[in-house]
This record gives sequence, C-alpha cells and structure tokens, in this order.
Amino acid sequence: MTDKNTFWSPLVHQLEPYIPGEQPVGDNLLKLNTNESPYPPSPKALAAIATHADDNLRLYPDPESTQLRNVIANYYNLDSEQIFIGNGSDEVLAHSFNAFFRQPKKILFPDLTYSFYPVYCQLYQINYDLVGLNDSFEIDIADYDQDNGGIIFPNPNAPTGIGLSRAAIVSLLERNPQSVVIVDEAYIDYALQSDAITSSESVASVVDLTRQFNNLLVVHTLSKSRAFAGMRVGYAIGHADLIEALQRVKNSFNSYPIDRLAQQAAIASFGDDAYFQFTVDKVIASRARLVSDLDELNFACLPSAANFVLVRHPLLDAPALASYLRENNIIVRYFSAPRIDQYIRITVGTDQQNQRLITVIKQFLAV
Ligand SMILES: *Cc1c(COP(=O)(O)O)cnc(C)c1O
Repeated sequence: MTDKNTFWSPLVHQLEPYIPGEQPVGDNLLKLNTNESPYPPSPKALAAIATHADDNLRLYPDPESTQLRNVIANYYNLDSEQIFIGNGSDEVLAHSFNAFFRQPKKILFPDLTYSFYPVYCQLYQINYDLVGLNDSFEIDIADYDQDNGGIIFPNPNAPTGIGLSRAAIVSLLERNPQSVVIVDEAYIDYALQSDAITSSESVASVVDLTRQFNNLLVVHTLSKSRAFAGMRVGYAIGHADLIEALQRVKNSFNSYPIDRLAQQAAIASFGDDAYFQFTVDKVIASRARLVSDLDELNFACLPSAANFVLVRHPLLDAPALASYLRENNIIVRYFSAPRIDQYIRITVGTDQQNQRLITVIKQFLAV
C-alpha cells in the first residue's frame, strides 16, 4: 500500500489552494457571494458566441488573441503591444507573479486582500510581507516605503471595497521605481458614476498611467462588470516590455488560453459600451439603495467603490447571520480572517434581489 500522495512533488504537499466562493447548482438560490453581475452579458456578445459556434471550432484559436488585443488597445487608446490576454484575470495574475515577482526580495501586499495572492506566492515560492490596512481598512502608501521586490493590491480593494485615490497610486509608483507595481482593477468600473469628473483625489482607473510608468501593470477582468465570469477572459495593460515577459511565460505554459468563442464574445462586449455603462450604472445605483437600507437596520458598511459591500451588525454574529441567510437560500461570503470575522460580504444584486436579502435580514433581527 502506498499513500495517495507518494507520487506528489514535494511542493504539492505544502500547497494550500485558494478556496473559491460556492457555485451551487440549485434553482431558487440568490447568489450574492462571488461578485458576479446580476445582469446578463451584452446581447451582442451572446449573438457573437452563437455566430461563431461553427465548423471553425475544429481549428485552434489565434494564440495571441490579436483581434481582441487590438480592440482593447483601441478602447483605451493604447498600443496592442501593451495588452496581454489571459484565461480570466486569475491566470493573468498567476503569470504576472511568475514573470515579475519570482526574485529574492519580498513582495508586499495588504493583510486584508484578495486571498489568491498568497496562494500564487506559495506556488511560485515567492517571499512576501503583509502590510496592514489602517484602522479604517484603508491602504496607506507610506507603509509601503520599504525595500521590496514588487507590490500588488486590488483597487478598489477586496473584500473591503475601499478604493485608493489616483494621487496615492502616482505617489506609490514614484516611490518604487525599481519594483513592478500591479494594480488589480477587477472592480474599478464600479468606482465612479460614469458622469462624474475624474480628479486626482478620486478613485479611478490608472490604465493611462501605463504610458508614463514602465513599472506599472494594470489587470482587468471581464468577469464582474462585463458579466463574463463564465467565459474566463482577463487582461493586463502595461509597458510593452512587461507584456513581453507575460507572453514568454504564457507561451511556456499554454499557447491557446482563450478559445475562439471567448475571443469573439469579448470583442463584441467591448463593442457595446452603451449596454456596459447602463448595467454598471444600475449596479452603482442599487449599491447606494442597499447601503442605505442596511444603514437603516443599524449595519456598519465600509464605504464601497465596488459591486459588493463588507458589513457588520453590532448585535449579530456574522457567521450566524451568514448561516441564517443560507438556510433561506441566500448565499453571501464570510471570511474568518482576523479583523473581518464579524463582517459579511454581500454582492450587490438587482434592487429586487437586494430587497429579498433585506427582508430575510429583518426576519433574523426579529428572532
Ligand atoms: C474576481 C477577482 C479576480 C478574478 O477574476 P477572474 O477574471 O474571474 O479570474 C481578480 N482579482 C480580484 C480582486 C477579484 O475579486
């Protein structure tokens, strides 16, 4: 008899993989746990998938996603050499850790952040230091003034939802010219009303700063604001030299990460800006109503620039509330991490879905 893991590589024994939020199969479940869009993808994207589900699927897709890279480059007024496409931004992030962070110095990221970052560090044997968020759960860039081999954080941060100003990011880039700084903008589209004026103090995308800073990599996903979690498309924007490193890693791993349908669907999504803005604005408006309803029930809500809110109730035990919601067919996300173990994270749904949540919370409060 051999152990089931006799044949494992030594590294595999140590891996503690990322645990994604539950993806249940049931029908009547309200999923407010993984920050998906409550709206469908653009009808134009769905039409593109139907159109391209044809004989050509016997052929490999374009390994470099050339057409999609051109579309994204045009969208942001950049060069296609500045765009890298991956199978979801998780893959883009994994390749980025491999390409930029696999060196002797410690990399830095917040203590409360996307829990995939330490998993990539373990996989690629990268040393890291956690930098504490301040008492208001904010990133303070002064805390990153230490020797480092790279910096990564989401903006807005997850699971807090709190955004970092553009001015702060500029300052961070100026203070760390020797390190690659990765800004994971998975939720940036929810940071601002589309008609708001961008000032340096506001929370906004730093994509344009990739023209100015050759050490900045911005990572985006189509999974949240473009309602494509099931399609798996993400991308990175940066100086052409950074992108070349990502291409090298990718072409040493999988030549064809984006299938034909995903490439066409993503292209169509970028071609339907009206629908994109419309659905993002609806989520932003619903977020405001949800927060105000939760405020009324005495919840403390961290100020969110994302499509989720991290909230706590002074009288309710967070895991007990999460279990009660689950028994009532509503799934939210609970993290047992220190400092947030009395919070739950709620994805913003449609107004109707959010009302269903509020009703069940009221029931729980009445018990
Ligand atoms: C959802 C999320 C991602 C991953 O998105 P995919 O493109 O679906 O892999 C990356 N970073 C953060 C912070 C996220 O919340």
